Amino acid sequence: MFLESTTASCPYCGEFIELLFEPLDTDQHYYEDCQVCCQPILIKLTSRSEGELPLFRCFRADE
Ligand SMILES: [Zn+2]
Repeated sequence: MFLESTTASCPYCGEFIELLFEPLDTDQHYYEDCQVCCQPILIKLTSRSEGELPLFRCFRADE
């Protein structure tokens, strides 16, 4: 399976973590545990123009 990767800042500890996603799997949200502090991060994907990586936004799961 072809996966894209990007980095995002953890909303809990501020460390940069690597995120993997499927390029076609946009306009969705999912949870991923921080690789540093192991807290659950809510990640929302928003698709942009064709050929561009989707926009990532990270939230604390308790907000
Ligand atoms: Zn963290």
